[in-house]
Amino acid sequence: MSDTIFSKIIRREIPADIVYENDEVLAFRDLNPQAPVHVLFIPKKPLATLNDATLADEALLGNLLLAVADYAKQEGFAERGYRAVINCNEDGGQTVFHLHVHLLAGRRLSWPPG
Ligand code: AMP
Repeated sequence: MSDTIFSKIIRREIPADIVYENDEVLAFRDLNPQAPVHVLFIPKKPLATLNDATLADEALLGNLLLAVADYAKQEGFAERGYRAVINCNEDGGQTVFHLHVHLLAGRRLSWPPG
């Protein structure tokens, strides 16, 4: 996988507003927020898309989603609700090819997405 802007954030080579971190996961605020809360959760392991995850990444994917829920509880909006989204490849609208989960919260989100 080629280097992305998110790898540079992991290596602290470019700034980001980091809000959560554990051994395998880093989370930081999206530069172009689509909701009052818009945080990106990324694995430190470089996986380009969800398609590139294998059974060996089972625990990592679990950790990624649990980090989202932990953060939502910690920040106090878990009960009210939020959305966790993974965009994959062109039709999914993925623009940065380092797997990430968007956490959106703080307003009523419409469905279906555009
Ligand atoms: P996606 O379209 O699902 O690949 O999402 C990529 C997201 O990364 C977009 O919501 C961008 O606003 C966000 N983004 C791009 N560069 C940065 C950055 N340097 N720091 C924070 N968020 C970024």
